[in-house]
Amino acid sequence: MTTDHTEPLSLPECTFSGGTARPIRRAPDPVLSRQAERVEADTPEAVSAAADLVATLRERETGAGLAAPQIGLPYRMIAFDARSHPRIRSAAGEVVLVNPRLVEASRWEHGREGCASIAGLTADIPRATRIVVEGALPGSGESVTIEADAFEARCIQHQLDHLDGLLFLDRVPGVLSLHRRHHSCDA
Ligand SMILES: [Zn+2]
Repeated sequence: MTTDHTEPLSLPECTFSGGTARPIRRAPDPVLSRQAERVEADTPEAVSAAADLVATLRERETGAGLAAPQIGLPYRMIAFDARSHPRIRSAAGEVVLVNPRLVEASRWEHGREGCASIAGLTADIPRATRIVVEGALPGSGESVTIEADAFEARCIQHQLDHLDGLLFLDRVPGVLSLHRRHHSCDA
């Protein structure tokens, strides 16, 4: 895998069918501030949660990613699909990662973020612009490594924070970095 791929990666086909879109939990819902739990990727429980997460993500007109706690499921699981964003460089396609782990991060930059769980605010948050993340695919349990950069990297790091009970507001360097939301941005 290269860092500048624009075609979907050749991840094993997974259709995530049959899921149900769930309501988005908003701060200060306690599920958003807890450490999420590891879940075995090759279990019916993980497959069902992944399908619901993807169904919820697809239903949203804005937002390139969601973490399981945002739909009330306390699992270490994220979904993202950065392909429709104008600022992407890498885009792995529609991906669900179980027990994801950031293994490399470099080239930090500030960039604007919003969150489905926090209405009306965005902020400039420092994130790595090049990352490598590992995780397992729901269903097969296969381990995958994804290299991401630019917007997709930011989106993934935002979702990973949700698994540790962190919201982007927890990373705001100062009140001057906060903005009222004028347009919807990412995750
Ligand atoms: Zn969020």
